[in-house]
Amino acid sequence: MDYMNGPGRNHLFVPGPVNIPDQVIRAMSRQNEDYRSPAIPALTKTLLEDVKKIFKTTTGTPFLFPTTGTGAWESALTNTLSPGDRIVSFSLGQFSLLWIDQQQRLGFSVDVVESDWGYGADLGALESKLRTDSQHTIKAICIVHNETATGVTNDLHAVRKLLDAYRHPALLLVDGVSSICALDFRMDEWGVDVALTGSQKALSLPTGLGIVCASPKALEAAKTAKSVRVFFDWKDYLKFYKMGTYWPYTPSIQLLYGLRAGLDLLFEEGLDNVIKRHTRLGTATRLAVAAWGLKNCTAKEENFSDTVTAVVVPPYIDSSEIVKHAWKRYNLSLGLGLNKVAGKVFRIGHLGHLNEVRTHARRRRNCLRSASRR
Ligand code: PLP
Repeated sequence: MDYMNGPGRNHLFVPGPVNIPDQVIRAMSRQNEDYRSPAIPALTKTLLEDVKKIFKTTTGTPFLFPTTGTGAWESALTNTLSPGDRIVSFSLGQFSLLWIDQQQRLGFSVDVVESDWGYGADLGALESKLRTDSQHTIKAICIVHNETATGVTNDLHAVRKLLDAYRHPALLLVDGVSSICALDFRMDEWGVDVALTGSQKALSLPTGLGIVCASPKALEAAKTAKSVRVFFDWKDYLKFYKMGTYWPYTPSIQLLYGLRAGLDLLFEEGLDNVIKRHTRLGTATRLAVAAWGLKNCTAKEENFSDTVTAVVVPPYIDSSEIVKHAWKRYNLSLGLGLNKVAGKVFRIGHLGHLNEVRTHARRRRNCLRSASRR
């Protein structure tokens, strides 16, 4: 039987876009407004202040772009670098690969550091590049914190320690698309110069906001960076920030109210609790995969991701058939294997507004107990 058009709801377990909390949906269900009225700048001011908390920064400057993660990448690169600049970029899965493709198409000279899919960024290779770069020709290090295609989390703190050990001034540009608001992320402490995420991931909003945060060093670099940029130019935003009107062009009013509600929910739960919840869900998923007798695509425990698990299927099974079957038969959406691991893995997303079934069962039990006492 095919359940996809039947009763009930789809169970969304892809690693983004993720479930949207009802509170966010309700907050977004509203009319358009004049974004030049006093209300929207007042709302934006709170968002810009509060969004810093998800990056764990007090010194960073955030930008809310009407875009996706891909646009946020472009904003990070074009505002801080000039064509021909040498950058080191780690290739370890589909999303790091796509970012590298963008870096090359934007005209940067990219030293690609490859890892087999399932492995983390090769920091040994980075170290040898830094060691031999006494002239500081490397202008930026680009790294995806959490590679969503393979479920690999990289150690950003270790990258920072290497840069510091060699007193290397390269900018550290980090894709936090499937990590920020779910995994431990510390922009200031780890000396991240540009961090970015997309609204449809752990923030649990609809797609459409690319959130970029720039360190003071990145803002300084933007003053001399020569890459062509228009829509993603930080300068235009900064001009409007100064004027207190905030928007160089029309923002999505609904997404702004959604972001307000989404941030309120995160702060209500407490960011540290949100991270703990993701650790719990990630651990539980990995235990389930092991109990099924299947392998995690992530080779080393130190890289296990608490937002997505890529599950390796036996060679005689096409993983896309599992994904198709889950969708048709169980109304369950799982993530496909991408590119090199297409047909070999399926992905379980465990990020965003999610919890384990048990909590609900416990809550229900408590409700039943108190009802029976009445
Ligand atoms: N970076 C990572 C780690 C991702 O997982 C994705 C999308 O899944 C992207 C970047 C690209 O984001 P978008 O599809 O929002 O452009």
